[in-house]
Amino acid sequence: MIKKFIDKLIAGASGRKPRFGKRQEVGPDQHGIDPTLVDDRALSVVHALKEAGFEAYIVGGAVRDLLLGLRPKDFDVATNATPEEVKAQFRRAFIIGRRFRIVHVVFGRGREHEVIEVSTFRAYLEAAQAEAVNGNERTSKAELAGMHHAVDASGRVLRDNVWGPQEEDAARRDFTINAMYYDPETRIVVDYHGGIADAKKRLLRMIGDPPTRYREDPVRIIRAVRFAAKLAGLGFKFDPKTRTPLHPSLPLLAEVPQSRLFDEMLKLLQTGHSLATIEQLKHLGMASGIYPLLDLVVERAEQPFVRAALQDTDRRVNEDKPVAPSFLLACVLWADVRDGWAQRIAHKEHPFPALQNAIDEVFDARIGDISGRGRLGSDMREIWMMQPRFEKRSGHTPFSLAEQPRFRAGFDFMRLRADVGEVDVTLADWWQEFSQASDAVREDLVEALRDEMHRQRRTRAPRKRGEEGAAEAPEPRERTPRAAEGAAAPAEAGDGEAPRKRRRRRRKPAGQGAGAPSEGSGTGPAE
Ligand code: ATP
Ligand code: MG
Repeated sequence: MIKKFIDKLIAGASGRKPRFGKRQEVGPDQHGIDPTLVDDRALSVVHALKEAGFEAYIVGGAVRDLLLGLRPKDFDVATNATPEEVKAQFRRAFIIGRRFRIVHVVFGRGREHEVIEVSTFRAYLEAAQAEAVNGNERTSKAELAGMHHAVDASGRVLRDNVWGPQEEDAARRDFTINAMYYDPETRIVVDYHGGIADAKKRLLRMIGDPPTRYREDPVRIIRAVRFAAKLAGLGFKFDPKTRTPLHPSLPLLAEVPQSRLFDEMLKLLQTGHSLATIEQLKHLGMASGIYPLLDLVVERAEQPFVRAALQDTDRRVNEDKPVAPSFLLACVLWADVRDGWAQRIAHKEHPFPALQNAIDEVFDARIGDISGRGRLGSDMREIWMMQPRFEKRSGHTPFSLAEQPRFRAGFDFMRLRADVGEVDVTLADWWQEFSQASDAVREDLVEALRDEMHRQRRTRAPRKRGEEGAAEAPEPRERTPRAAEGAAAPAEAGDGEAPRKRRRRRRKPAGQGAGAPSEGSGTGPAE
């Protein structure tokens, strides 16, 4: 009674609701979670920690998904054990992170390995501290030091490793449906913020005072869009108080480090709901303003090629197939690479360096710092550099191309180009067959193609010079790269649809073309 009164007083004074929710325990007949959807490894982590005398629960998005009858992609565990104590319980466990230390408990090996993330219950960060995390210097360094956090010269909090009780851990989470704890042994859900009720009502609601929570961590704005998109199909709607401050809070994102924005953008695009996300962004009036590269994705989602790439990504994620950010970004930026390449060739640049230079230019203009992320950039480059090589289907070339570690990505990219009419569908079909065939069948395929070319050459009367432009008339932007493909692959027997290309090739001795582009494509790291 007295506590309630004090809570009301505090709420009245600060204009906010009391911060910590009331603990509610909900049993299986109310929450209806299907225990078979729970991952065995997560179960074993919870079990081991409880055996050792700690509290441990499945937490966050996994509980949300379980409650909605979805199979969670990954399972996080929260506990009152410190990272050191967690690590001591498992044979293969690693403490990672500095600002936010957590433990990775690893099961299995190689590609099949699985990680259960275990985090220690955190104390609720005061809003002022959290603002300092984002570089806002409103709070003095002395104040921050008094709060026992490591701070750097600008007042930014370097470490956020203050452990606290579960109720504080719950209050610092973002949405009510993301703040529940599930004990897979007792099958009890612990809910402090009405997450179960909101899940039933299909309501996406931020815990606490939404504008304050967006200020504390502006990335929550992007997370709001992500969950709205993911759950729209289940009928979820925003609570108006959660939604209204979203757009006005956009400028806060300027404080967030680029790398974090980039990662959040990838989550928007690569968790199986990219098209729904784009719809949601438009619906919220946030089609631009989150991150420049994302603005571009939204804009280009109208183009058939990018739309197909997004659709394909969603499909793959929903079929549990792996997706690579390099592939999607290579698709989004392809128009720039292709047009830059064509322009350079039009200015008499050699086709192979022209492609490389066009790629460099696109990295500089569109990706900035992120291109420093080694693997991502080099994978994108490889996908692009492989494209002219698909035109070359004679001799040993197709064999070595099909052995490239990144062949599959390059091929999928070319297939998508074929789907939208940018390359001949028969070329994509040929490569599909070739890539799946045995060596003997591959030889046959190359031979059959060669015979076909010979036959076409014999039966087709040579055209006069003046005729060919009118007869083929490719799209202006495509014309030059196609010519370039021919020049870049001088030894090729030809592909049937390009007599002009063949004639030029025959004039050149094999192997002397514009740097047959085997250099860039084959050296990338294996997946
Ligand atoms: P997904 O299914 O996409 O993984 P998720 O809800 O599990 O969604 P994660 O990024 O894995 O999202 O985060 C796990 C949990 O950590 C969230 O459910 C939420 O409780 C908490 N969390 C993560 N990021 C934030 C944040 N920026 N602010 C507050 N809580 C957060
Ligand atoms: Mg998660």
